[in-house]
Amino acid sequence: MSVARLRDSAQYVKGVGPRRYEYLKRLGLQRVWDILWYAPRHYFDRTSVEEIGRLIPGREATIRGRVQKVTLERSPRGWQIVKARLEDETGTIPVIWFNQAYLKNVLRPGQVLLLTGKVVYGRSNLELRVNEFEIVEQGHVLNAARIVPVYRATEGLSQKVLRSVVHQVLHDYAGCYPEVLAREVRERYKLEDIQVAWINLHFPEDFTRLEKARRRLAFEELLLWQWAVQKKRAAQRATLPAGRSHSGGDELVRMVRNSLPFELTAAQEQVVGEIFADLISDQPMSRLLQGDVGAGKTVVAVLAAAKVVGNGFQTAFMAPTEILAVQHYQALCRFMGGTPVRVGLLTGKTPPREKAEILAMVERGEIGILVGTHSLIQEQVRFARLGLVVIDEQQRFGVRQRGMLLDKGDWCPDMLVMSATPIPRTLALAYYGDLDISVIDQLPPGRRPVKTFLLKPGLEGRLHGFIRRQVEDGRQVYVVCPLVEESEKQDLQAATTLQKELATRVFPDLRIGLLHGRMKSEEKKAVAASFRKGEVDILVTTSILEVGIDVPNATVMVVQHAERFGLSQLHQLRGRVGRGDVQSYCILVGEPHTDEGWKRLKAMEKTGNGFEIAWQDLQMRGPGDFWGVRQHGLPALKVADLARDAHLLEAVRAELLTGVGYDEPKLCSIADLYTGEEKLIYKN
Ligand code: ADP
Ligand code: MG
Repeated sequence: MSVARLRDSAQYVKGVGPRRYEYLKRLGLQRVWDILWYAPRHYFDRTSVEEIGRLIPGREATIRGRVQKVTLERSPRGWQIVKARLEDETGTIPVIWFNQAYLKNVLRPGQVLLLTGKVVYGRSNLELRVNEFEIVEQGHVLNAARIVPVYRATEGLSQKVLRSVVHQVLHDYAGCYPEVLAREVRERYKLEDIQVAWINLHFPEDFTRLEKARRRLAFEELLLWQWAVQKKRAAQRATLPAGRSHSGGDELVRMVRNSLPFELTAAQEQVVGEIFADLISDQPMSRLLQGDVGAGKTVVAVLAAAKVVGNGFQTAFMAPTEILAVQHYQALCRFMGGTPVRVGLLTGKTPPREKAEILAMVERGEIGILVGTHSLIQEQVRFARLGLVVIDEQQRFGVRQRGMLLDKGDWCPDMLVMSATPIPRTLALAYYGDLDISVIDQLPPGRRPVKTFLLKPGLEGRLHGFIRRQVEDGRQVYVVCPLVEESEKQDLQAATTLQKELATRVFPDLRIGLLHGRMKSEEKKAVAASFRKGEVDILVTTSILEVGIDVPNATVMVVQHAERFGLSQLHQLRGRVGRGDVQSYCILVGEPHTDEGWKRLKAMEKTGNGFEIAWQDLQMRGPGDFWGVRQHGLPALKVADLARDAHLLEAVRAELLTGVGYDEPKLCSIADLYTGEEKLIYKN
């Protein structure tokens, strides 16, 4: 019984010949290991065997009976029908198979069959149309009279064959799968023995056992995955040169702090502490700073910059767009106003003379903080002593880009990535294997949360009255039309129609603008600019997120057919208002057809916390559909479900931290099978 046997090719499994092996490969099942981990998509509950005499038409039923006779007939439409009469103590019934003439020679009177199918009225009496059957004398019962696994199958490989292959693998190979978890850990998290889990994942005796098996294997899978992530991370870190310890600089930090017109929130203090600990350490920092829009990330980054500059190093501060770079520059100038630190700005618009001057000052170390777009790293900026790189809204900034920065000094600068995308913490932890994470989960005091209301369609009269009052108070309004992915044309039509209707019938006296995804980028800019200048009262739009308008005077966000948007999308839309200091409103017009749909919209009404919303979204839709996660490249997990098993992921990470709950050599022995590196070797 050795672990190595799990690498065996599937073609060596009993009952698998060259043809079946080809089909198995098509399903990605090259190795015994893959088959073991081939979790059923779902299960049929065929535990209760019904009596033939008491069958009810119109339902699926499982029966057990003895074959009396077998005939082959031809239906009026030319189908071949194999018909067998089946008998138990309570009665008999004809059971039929379509177009499987060979069964005529397989089925014999006297055999006992277990079968599942639909009970229907035939020409004169009840009959059963067989979905699946099994001859009881032939070995194990896998297809009926039990909880039956249903796998993703392929043409040429039926459920029945898959079940028998999996069953064979369980019998011959599962014993080779090592138990990696220590007993204490299994007891602590109520995880059952791995061998029991394998059997119950595929052929559970009941649903309680199935759930226990699923939980155990989810833990196993998360452990294998996170172990691989950590190994990769350690390897990556090993390639970085040493960082610098920034242990001084407190005087400058104090000056900046004292000039702040507000107190930091507890959440801000917490993350400042985390970041400073990294800066003081001589390990290069790789940290992601997450916080909803307006949570106050910039101040935190400024304090980090102050600490680094206070140690005689420089900071590069990078924003995704020129507009944002300018905003950051202004903020930094304000925060650094009472200090001797010089702040510089470099964008594509900087005139050549000025640019040359700034570059020279950076190279001489006279500019302490240089603000620019992400292209800062590509341009020939030579820092005298680069100590910290702050990157706003660019999660994909990774090892490669950091490599570019390395040319600029012979040590590794610290790196702080800021993001307002509220990815739930569990996901973030799992995905950003190469970043540490700090979260600001609290907004500064005194913010007025956007008031959110649900409105059923048909009550537009009230909505229009409300909009009119806001406009009369000098405010502006967004109306977002639904995005129907399949049909951009239809979207356009809906938006155009609505704009016309508002402009002619509802608000003939107001200025109604239109902005949609099909416009040229120049046109979009023009519309956005006139809205910003207050020349438009109500902006009807399909693509507001894409355009990224930010107008503090807009106080109302109306979302049509809100049920068609994801929660995180709605949250982003809502984030477009509430930017000034007057009360803002988000009105979700919609009529979900399901309870879950209502629950989703209610969640929007209840909370303004982006992380909470993202979490609910994840719970409701699963990580596969979760906003943006696909682009984040999460692995396809076989058993674990990141939404459902979040607590298991936390547990796994805790165990990996302490490192005593599992058998390291054993884990090592299966880790490469999991990551698939073994598979590549195997192919050659
Ligand atoms: P983020 O970058 O996270 O979206 P900012 O850093 O731009 O948020 O902060 C948004 C606004 O809140 C800024 O005007 C900032 O000065 C202010 N602010 C930040 N922290 C606090 C605080 N603790 N108390 C009050 N206002 C704050
Ligand atoms: Mg910001």
